Amino acid sequence: MTHNGRVISLPEGKEGNPAIKLSVASEPLIKPGTLPRILVIGGGVSGLMTAWILLDKGYRVTVISKEWAWTKDFQRSRLTSQIAGALWEYPPGGCGLTEIESPGGGWATIHHYREWSLESYDFYKQLDSLLSGRLRTEFGVAIKKLNQFFYHDLTAPNEANTEDIEKLEALRADSDRVSNLQEQKNKEDLAPLFDNIRVPKEWRKKLKYGYTHDAPIINTDKAMVYLMALVESKGAELETKELEGKLQDQGSDLLEEYKAQAIINATGLGAKELVGDTDVYPVRGAIKRISNDNTNRFEAMNEAYLVPAQVGDDKEPTKVVFLVPRNDETLIVGSIIQRNSHQLNLQENSPDVEVMWDRACSFMPGLDDAPTVPWYPLAQGLRPFTKKNVKVRADDIQVKPLIHNYGHGGSGWTLAVGCARSAVNLLELMLSGMSAVEANATLYPV
Ligand SMILES: Cc1cc2nc3c(=O)[nH]c(=O)nc-3n(C[C@H](O)[C@H](O)[C@H](O)COP(=O)(O)OP(=O)(O)OC[C@H]3O[C@@H](n4cnc5c(N)ncnc54)[C@H](O)[C@@H]3O)c2cc1C
Repeated sequence: MTHNGRVISLPEGKEGNPAIKLSVASEPLIKPGTLPRILVIGGGVSGLMTAWILLDKGYRVTVISKEWAWTKDFQRSRLTSQIAGALWEYPPGGCGLTEIESPGGGWATIHHYREWSLESYDFYKQLDSLLSGRLRTEFGVAIKKLNQFFYHDLTAPNEANTEDIEKLEALRADSDRVSNLQEQKNKEDLAPLFDNIRVPKEWRKKLKYGYTHDAPIINTDKAMVYLMALVESKGAELETKELEGKLQDQGSDLLEEYKAQAIINATGLGAKELVGDTDVYPVRGAIKRISNDNTNRFEAMNEAYLVPAQVGDDKEPTKVVFLVPRNDETLIVGSIIQRNSHQLNLQENSPDVEVMWDRACSFMPGLDDAPTVPWYPLAQGLRPFTKKNVKVRADDIQVKPLIHNYGHGGSGWTLAVGCARSAVNLLELMLSGMSAVEANATLYPV
């Protein structure tokens, strides 16, 4: 298979990522030659996207993982990366006010999140236009209109809407990279959006501002299967294995065992144990999965609707309304955001799930008529957060190159491509002779 017409070109990023090319063909873009083997730990989106970039650059890659995405038995519980909706959101997104714990610092700033998300946006857009017919359905990416609504007028600053205004201003500045940004500044502008889905009066009264733009929506069941098959066809070796104990104590042995010269740690929540990062914590999430296929009384939706978490009148974060139609005739309705909940024991009739569902139905009454997807009505998982934001860093306590790429919270698909590029960038700086400290300082100058 040739690479002609099957290549995604991502230009140099604003936070220092060099330009790269990725091919959707089954062979690597550059055949493996003298470049070393890299060991990737973790088979979620963060590990597999990093593996794809490495393979197309001509590296040999082994991915080891405790668990993988399910490729057929979709009734069973899934990997976090497969549970996600997944909607692309301009950061901070996902979990609204809690998405970025350390806005002023930590391992990455809001500027990194935004740049990484925009690099991913470019990737999904190109992928969508590149893949056609069967292949497009196989990855399951769709670019759809996202309608977002706010309780506060974003032209009139007050103590509750500062963060939303800052985000909108940044989005305006980036509107050359996000397609079709349009603002709805008053009731008259908002009315047509509400009319489309018959939003009731109580909500119309509450919502004062809106904006819309095109957003990638990823069918994560398909995309995970696609990513696994793609990296394998490009030559990656995939091995099922759980690493126990501290990576710091076994790094050299692992490198020797796998004949590799560097390690990428993309273990999500697993990093808490594996590298002893006590800042890692879970945020439980759940989404209902609805049939969106026009075979019942519910009129199928083709646009996404989001009322993100915002500061409410009581100064507390409000709850989210999240209605996201995938391209596989499933509508994702969410979501639940619960910090430090480890138990995946929610049921369709759990009070938290019922409250979430009632909120979505009150926003869009027709939802009451919609049946859930019978074979997998409720998906729940643990978003991998860290108190210091997503960590894409070279590890300075290791002699050999060890690069971390974990802690993506509620935005792993939004950030995946940008973060994977930065992880590879750090790796190449270290392979060229830099220390971890120098590599980090190059990517994150103070
Ligand atoms: C309900 C819900 C909704 C979401 N919605 C969205 C959304 O709309 N948009 C969005 O962008 N994101 C969303 N997310 C977040 C997204 O799913 C995560 O950020 C993303 O999946 C993290 O990917 P990851 O590869 O870093 O981690 P994971 O998918 O958790 O993968 C980690 C991998 O590491 C392996 N591993 C861990 N420890 C070890 C070990 N010791 N040895 C070997 N292997 C190990 C695991 O088996 C796994 O394969 C959502 C999440 C949830 C739960």
